[in-house]
Amino acid sequence: MLAYGARRSVQGYVWQPAIEAIDREALAVLQLRKLQRQIQRVRAGSKFYAEKLVAFGLESWQPTSLAELDRLPVTTHAELVRAFEAAGDPAGGRLLVDPEEVDTILVPASPSTDAPPVFGFLNSNDRAEQVESLVRFFCMLGVHGADVVQVLSWGHEPMVALYAGGLGGTGAYAAPSVADYLGVHVVGMEIAPGEAWRTVATARLLHPKGIFANLEHLRAMQEILAKEQRTPPSLGYDFVVIRETSLTALGELADLRRVWETPVFFMLDCAGALFTAMDCGAGRGLHVWEDLFYVESTDEAGRRQNGAVGGYLTVTSLTPGAARLLRYQTRLSVKLDFNACPCGRTHARICGEAN
Ligand SMILES: [Zn+2]
Repeated sequence: MLAYGARRSVQGYVWQPAIEAIDREALAVLQLRKLQRQIQRVRAGSKFYAEKLVAFGLESWQPTSLAELDRLPVTTHAELVRAFEAAGDPAGGRLLVDPEEVDTILVPASPSTDAPPVFGFLNSNDRAEQVESLVRFFCMLGVHGADVVQVLSWGHEPMVALYAGGLGGTGAYAAPSVADYLGVHVVGMEIAPGEAWRTVATARLLHPKGIFANLEHLRAMQEILAKEQRTPPSLGYDFVVIRETSLTALGELADLRRVWETPVFFMLDCAGALFTAMDCGAGRGLHVWEDLFYVESTDEAGRRQNGAVGGYLTVTSLTPGAARLLRYQTRLSVKLDFNACPCGRTHARICGEAN
């Protein structure tokens, strides 16, 4: 199904050149076909979206262009919370599959931004898609073969156990993990800053090629190393990826590169929308996978904005899964670049925060 692409990009490899470097006209055709299927799917299976389509006179609507998606008002977090509270089911009427097909429920990562809770739901399609996204990012980093990589996540996240490695191995229950696809060794670790001493000790023992952690954890590692009168470069990482749920830490990249003396990449993880973006090393923004998501920037009223002007990152899932989101307006203020990246990939990039 998946072919490990031989083409070198700026930093690493391209996993799926036929998709990642697809001609944009062909991408638009692909996206429209997927969008049409998604509208049919939510109309038939999602109480939440079926009612929304009726409410806006779209009960028999089939978009004939991507621009026509504007007819569907954006989905806001507040709207999901209302549906969650009114529907009497944890999915707020968004579930598209039989509840028995759901095998993972995502608890909101941050009570401060997601309260009251809006849960995420995963079936095998969702997991396979998350793994596909991550495999592409690992290839960007040049991770392959028997490389060892430390991947940190919060205990309640499926990042380590289900996506990157660990329990996500081949079997009847779980989809193959990133480690299965690439043959790499993923060392899963707890991201809580109090665990930073363990991350440092493990790095000394296993000499990993790189690490995925958040800014807080990296800073905690720096403190431990400083107390030991050692430096971050002494751990020998070839790369560092900071994985964050907002773009705030983008401003720290230059300092991190100076302190860690290694390429530092940024991964944006909107876990609630199952949406991830990461930079490729060309310094032109965070790659989005547009075969999986249609992305826009919208203003407060939900109107589409020019990508260069920017607005709230608004994502439409284009693939099957347990509970899809259409035109989900995040609170992330972004600019979007739809021009090809020097790395050869043609999908859109998040190129910083909107003014
Ligand atoms: Zn690129």
